[in-house]
Formats: sequence, structure tokens, C-alpha cells
Amino acid sequence: MKFGTKVIHAGIKPDPSTGAIMTPIFQTSTYVQDAPGVHKGYEYARTQNPTRSVLEENLAALENGKHGICFSSGLAAMDAILKTLDPGDEIVSTSDLYGGSYRLITKIYEKFGLKGHFIPMDDLDQVEKELNKKTKLIWIETPTNPMLNIIDIENICKIAKKKGIMTCVDNTFASPYLQTPLDLGADLVLHSATKYLGGHSDVVHGAIITNDDEMAEQLRFIQNAAGAVPGPQDCFLILRGIKTLHLRVERSCKNAKKIAKYLNSHPKVSKVFYPGFKDHPNHLIAKKQMRDFGGMVSFDLMQNDFEAAQEVLKNTHLFSLAESLGGVESLIGHPASMTHASIPKEERLKVGLTDSLIRLSVGVEDADDLIEDLEQALLNV
Ligand SMILES: *Cc1c(COP(=O)(O)O)cnc(C)c1O
Repeated sequence: MKFGTKVIHAGIKPDPSTGAIMTPIFQTSTYVQDAPGVHKGYEYARTQNPTRSVLEENLAALENGKHGICFSSGLAAMDAILKTLDPGDEIVSTSDLYGGSYRLITKIYEKFGLKGHFIPMDDLDQVEKELNKKTKLIWIETPTNPMLNIIDIENICKIAKKKGIMTCVDNTFASPYLQTPLDLGADLVLHSATKYLGGHSDVVHGAIITNDDEMAEQLRFIQNAAGAVPGPQDCFLILRGIKTLHLRVERSCKNAKKIAKYLNSHPKVSKVFYPGFKDHPNHLIAKKQMRDFGGMVSFDLMQNDFEAAQEVLKNTHLFSLAESLGGVESLIGHPASMTHASIPKEERLKVGLTDSLIRLSVGVEDADDLIEDLEQALLNV
């Protein structure tokens, strides 16, 4: 089945009791048993829920995996993966990792004996040097946020496999429409389904997809034992969002390309970060592992200060000032004061995250209107 068919049909069948074509929201906490232990495969809704099961099967198909396991948020999904590790184990990840993922490793799990190392992962030699006997997990996030660096999934997975280290790719920014890391050798894929999969900024949800039966069993055990499960209504909303994933991401990519080109020739813009540009340092890797270059664009201003950025952020009307990404509507954000405020300024500047850097999550509106909105917002900078 091709991707555009899978989003609509994989794992989805009419409800056997009524013929309802859409997966019902099974809003129940428990299931009646005919006799003790005699039931229809469902006992208690933390353990199993039919709406969730359909979503899990659909997500597995989208990522070309065998098992999908859903959680109440992207970070709850990551938390489950970290719970499979033991005290003393080490994680190698990227230096511009999503702030919440960084916080989970350093502020929660370091006190339980895990250790994180954060390095520029587009440098493969440095990745290889960082690995030691204690390294149990390589955590890749690509494209990165907000600098939109691209990390070579296939080659890092090769290095990891040689050393018996597990790899997980946070595929939130690309979505399975653009990139399927299991095909490139990853052991696990993580999604904040809050973003492109849900796609309408109306639900928080997370998922893990894997081909590894043993990992799937461990993660299912943790899903039930720790209990960070999504509600059935949230699963329904993600299922509904996924039906148009290919259409939405395709349009976002098209819009982002036009906007990146427009910004690149704007006299008040000093630099545009967009992996689709031929002179982007990781352009060839992006071309190799992604089907298109995504809906995210970051840019810096000639007037390199916070005030200039403020002026732009204050004056857009279609681009709303908000955290998050991947919805149908376009968002604008200021990483230095919003998503990455907890990172010390010297650290931020090292990766190019200046006070005037602006990040766009490009939605599916008409590109001409989006460009007009940016044009008037840049007028007074
Ligand atoms: C939002 C996000 C997360 C966290 O997901 P939640 O659903 O907010 O818990 C993880 N990784 C990336 C790349 C994200 O953008």
C-alpha cells in the first residue's frame, strides 16, 4: 500500500457492531466479562482500548514498522524509552535537542543514574568518539530545532549497530510522510503526535514505533505499568488528523519553499536556515533521507538584536506568535525567549541561535498571503 492510501486505510475497518465507517471513540474505563477471565480481549482501559489499538496499527504502518505504542504525550513516550535503561547507562544525543527532551534526560533521569552527552551529531567522527561501553542509546532528532540541521540517520545507525547500541529517531519535525527512520536502520521512532500527525493544534499525544518484538513488549509493559496512556478521544483526533497528513505536509513543504526563497532575497534578512537550499551544509543528506525539505524555516535579521525580532513578531497577523508546530495554521516563534530560553546565551550563540533568530512553522494557507504578511511585518525593522 502506498503512503496516501495507508493514512486512510491502514488498520482501519468499519466497526463490527454497527458498521460505523469511522473508528468509534470507546469512552469506557472497563469491559464486561462473561465469566472471570472470559472476555473479548479487553479488560481495563489503561491496558487496552479499541480506539487506541486502531491508531497504534495505523501508526506502525505509516512508519513501516510492526508495533505502534501510544502515550499521553511525546515526552511520555520518551519517558517510556528511558525507563528501559539501567542506572549507569549513557545516552548520546544532539546539542540542539528539543528542550523538553534535554530536560527529561538531565533534570529527571540523571538523578536515577543515567547520563546524557550532547554533541553536534552532523559530525560523524565526533559521534563515534563519544561512544563508550556505557553508551546504550543514541537519540537522533532531525531536522533539528530551530537551526534545521540534518543528521545522517543511516550512517549513525550503522555505527550504532556495530557496537550493539540502540538508536531512536525523534521523527516529529519530518513526519513519516517525509522520512521513515526504521527503513534507514533505526530501532525506534518517536513522535510528538501533537505536531504534524494531529496537525490541527487541538491535541497532545505521543507514540513509539518499532520492528523489534522484544522492545515492543518492554514498552507495552511500561505503557501499562506506568500508565501514561492517551484518552480515546485524543486517539480519535490523531486518527482523524492522519487522514490528511500527506496533503497537509505536501502543502506546508511547498509553502515553506516559497517563503524560504522570498526571505533569502529580502534586504532585511541576513540568513535563512532551510535544508532545501543547495548551500545548506547538510543539503545532500536531507536529499538522501527525506522526500521533501519540511515545513519549518528559520531566519535571522540584519539588525541583529532582540528589538528587531520583537518588531517582526508583533506585526504578523496570519502567523500567530506561539510555541509548537505542524498545525494547519502558520506559527511564528522566537526561540531565544520561548522554546530555548533555558539554554545559556553563550551556548545558544555557539549553535547560531541569536537573539534575532525567528522560527516559522509554515501552515497550509495560501503562500501569497503568508508572504504578504511577512512583507508588511518586515517593513519597519
Ligand atoms: C513537541 C516535541 C516533543 C514533545 O512532545 P509533547 O507532545 O509536547 O510531549 C518532542 N520532540 C520534538 C521534536 C517536539 O517538537
